[in-house]
Amino acid sequence: MEVSGVQTYNFTVSACPPTAGSRMDSSPPVPTLPSGGSLNVAVLGSTGSVGTSTIEVVAASRGRFTPFLLAAHSNVRRLVEQAHACRPRHVVVVDQAAAATLDAADLPAGTRLAVGPEALDDLVQSPEVDRVVAAIAGAAGLRSTWAAVEAGKTVALANKETLVMAGPLVMRLAARTGARILPVDSEHSAIHQALRAGTASEVERIVLTASGGPFRTWSAEQLAAATPEQALRHPTWSMGPKITIDSATMMNKALELIEARWLFGLPAERLAVLVHPQSVVHSLVEFVDGSLIAQLSPPDMKLPIQYALFYPDRVPGVARRFDHARPLALEFEPPDPVRFPAVRLGHEAAARGGTAGAVLNAANEEAVRGFLEGALAFTDIAAVSERILGEHCFQADPALDDIRRLDAWARQEVVKWACV
Ligand code: NDP
Ligand code: MG
Repeated sequence: MEVSGVQTYNFTVSACPPTAGSRMDSSPPVPTLPSGGSLNVAVLGSTGSVGTSTIEVVAASRGRFTPFLLAAHSNVRRLVEQAHACRPRHVVVVDQAAAATLDAADLPAGTRLAVGPEALDDLVQSPEVDRVVAAIAGAAGLRSTWAAVEAGKTVALANKETLVMAGPLVMRLAARTGARILPVDSEHSAIHQALRAGTASEVERIVLTASGGPFRTWSAEQLAAATPEQALRHPTWSMGPKITIDSATMMNKALELIEARWLFGLPAERLAVLVHPQSVVHSLVEFVDGSLIAQLSPPDMKLPIQYALFYPDRVPGVARRFDHARPLALEFEPPDPVRFPAVRLGHEAAARGGTAGAVLNAANEEAVRGFLEGALAFTDIAAVSERILGEHCFQADPALDDIRRLDAWARQEVVKWACV
């Protein structure tokens, strides 16, 4: 397949033969699940879109997983409902003010309440936690994911910002502690699965697919006037608001390029993006002989969540299935660099490494907030992110404190831009 022009395929879906774990992945093997035993799961961001899907996967796991810890920021009502449904040992409310509205008597017997980010870090590192699902939205997710990696946990990683901001540091920490990071982001899960078809030296490049979002066919003039309500209407995925806006600008793909750069250790020039409006092919790996190995499934996050939790096993689950009796037409087209400049920013930041990912992420996160609050136009999001990325004081090998400092700086710069 050439990665240019619009192409339509009618696929006959066939499964690729199972092989040993990814040979591009040198981190320690995850032990096969104990038969009859149950593993304790910590769900960070349980009240969100990925968190809610995770709870469904855990509930359908026939006791192979037990909800041990559920954590949220401030949605106390949803957290209490989840606690009654799942009976976890602990719930954590990170926001102190929200926690003050919660009466411990609202929780079921046997569920303990903890408050604040430090309490979350401590519980994530508890020896009783076997699997961590990192599903907090945005830069706020770095801290608890870091705690999990520091404690050598097996982490099912939805919070792509962890790797976007601090990829080299996190991967080095994981290598030191023996932590295992398994992607939940559907594209990276697809790549993880496709890589099982070959060796590292056989991989030519990775092709991330992108739905193109709700504005795929919109003109530049239409994009300039796009409203939050229009941008929040994603055609194929149901997700939290921040990532939904990122899909509309295609900044999500920029962040995913950086995520892939560190997760799979491939240089930026061997990462590509292909727009695929149906969101059925979740990504592809191109091997040196020209073969493309893809992973296909209906768009449903429960599948990559389940893959990461059960890895290396595959089990029947609750994710949506194809109806093989219905025709399936799949289209692919290259992204438009003029209407969607964010993809280029992702390539640039993935190539530069250092502090580029953290600054791009922070600028974008703040700009998305500005757009949702009516302070910025839709097209300002990529424009302000590009300017701040270009102007920042780049560091090639930053420490975590440098990343935090530049994250705060980039946010202030967006606020200044919005005020002029
Ligand atoms: P949502 O906005 O739906 O949920 C965010 C979750 O994070 C909520 O539980 C929220 O709690 C919690 N949270 C937010 N800030 C904090 C904080 N400071 N401390 C603790 N918890 C916090 O997000 P999504 O589920 O859509 O996305 C989560 C992550 O997964 C993101 O990094 C996203 O990029 C990634 N991802 C999501 C996909 C999806 O399909 N949704 C697909 C691929 C990746 P509260 O409800 O109390 O505010
Ligand atoms: Mg994704």
